Amino acid sequence: MDNYQAKNLKTALTEIRNSMDEGDQSKLDLDLYEKVIDKVASYAVECDECKEYLIEMEVHIAQIQKEITSKNEINFKLHKQKVNEFTSHLTNQHNLVTEGYYLSIYMAIGTGIGLPFGLLLFDNIALGLPIGIGIGVAIGAGLDADAKEKGKVI
Ligand SMILES: [Zn+2]
Repeated sequence: MDNYQAKNLKTALTEIRNSMDEGDQSKLDLDLYEKVIDKVASYAVECDECKEYLIEMEVHIAQIQKEITSKNEINFKLHKQKVNEFTSHLTNQHNLVTEGYYLSIYMAIGTGIGLPFGLLLFDNIALGLPIGIGIGVAIGAGLDADAKEKGKVI
């Protein structure tokens, strides 16, 4: 039932993709939307909110299709809002992360640690920076890969 719903949504998404130019496609970030549909559908069995989101997605995607056929301006702002809403439910309620999430966090931490570290060890702030970033990237990329393996990345 839920997979059937997701399948329909993705078929509609493909139709949307085929009927617009690349600029509009990337503005809608359809790849992300497709992944969000998959995740929401997989949680809809146990989560009432996800169940409702699937219905909301149907309405929302139908609206985009209508905008395309009637040649009206696509409401990109509303679309972004919707996708953000779905994504933040997935991250907050189902502990998912967006792609590259850990990398960005640990790179920032690495930068912060690298500076005093360089000063302390080498008496040179600039020298600590690449080391800190290097360690941050290593840890962050590792955690991202781990999350991906566990199916926790949107
Ligand atoms: Zn949910």
